[in-house]
Amino acid sequence: MDCSLCGSTHVKIKFNMISDRQIFACSDCDIQFLSPQLNDQELIKLYSENYYFAWGVSGNEENESTKRMKIATFQLRLSLILQYIKKGKILDVGCATGYFLETAKEKGFDPFGVEFSEYSSAIAKKKFGEDNIFWGTLETSHFNDNMFDVIAMSDLIEHVRIPEQTLSKASKLLSDNGVIMIMTPDARSLSNMLMKKKWTHYKLEHFFYFSKKSIICVADKCGLSVVHFEKSKKALNFEYLHTQYKVYKHWLLTPAINFLYFIFPKKLRSKNFYFSIGEMVVILKKKQA
Ligand SMILES: [Zn+2]
Repeated sequence: MDCSLCGSTHVKIKFNMISDRQIFACSDCDIQFLSPQLNDQELIKLYSENYYFAWGVSGNEENESTKRMKIATFQLRLSLILQYIKKGKILDVGCATGYFLETAKEKGFDPFGVEFSEYSSAIAKKKFGEDNIFWGTLETSHFNDNMFDVIAMSDLIEHVRIPEQTLSKASKLLSDNGVIMIMTPDARSLSNMLMKKKWTHYKLEHFFYFSKKSIICVADKCGLSVVHFEKSKKALNFEYLHTQYKVYKHWLLTPAINFLYFIFPKKLRSKNFYFSIGEMVVILKKKQA
């Protein structure tokens, strides 16, 4: 098999994910990827309402402590973006129900979103208007070229079938002085090295696992350059972790978090803490001609 990012033939199986699907790693560009990918039907099934159960979100009701936690994380992302761009149109790709856009709107940005899930895009449309939210993929969206000052992709690029295509489209939609913010798991993080194939980010819906080297490689192919790289921090609380690991069972973390949850004072369960959990944040700009 050739590398699906750089085309190199130096690709090896890293481990078996499940019986017929493996994680491959390219020793040239450093990308890791799942092959074969889930098909569309398997994906739709996975992204349907049940997926959001892991967020403590069901029906139209948004869990308050999850919401506060997500917003705290998004404020971190926004303060990084604000170092480059202070106002204008912002597009959140994979906007889910629109937490990030709510935060961006409060800071004075004009909010737009793309969301693959019909269920969550409907919720986002109610918040930001029919025209501002596109139900589908970025590649098929109706937005104009050079339209956006900021394009945000949190927990998105690892989900798409062809990252180069998604990022090329983002590059087209971006204004000349705009920035793209990507947050994604870091396959060269400490947590990956320690947990190996039990790393919590290895999931069937994650098709690609980037590192600093491979994100620079894909950016370069799309006419973009990486102007900032950092280990990303996330706000987490025990309320959320408890719900997550009830759904995504982990041999060590599920019992550990259950234990901590029950010994933790009730008031502190929904208090936010900041952790670096094996993800990275990068800022991209168009290459100057
Ligand atoms: Zn490669």
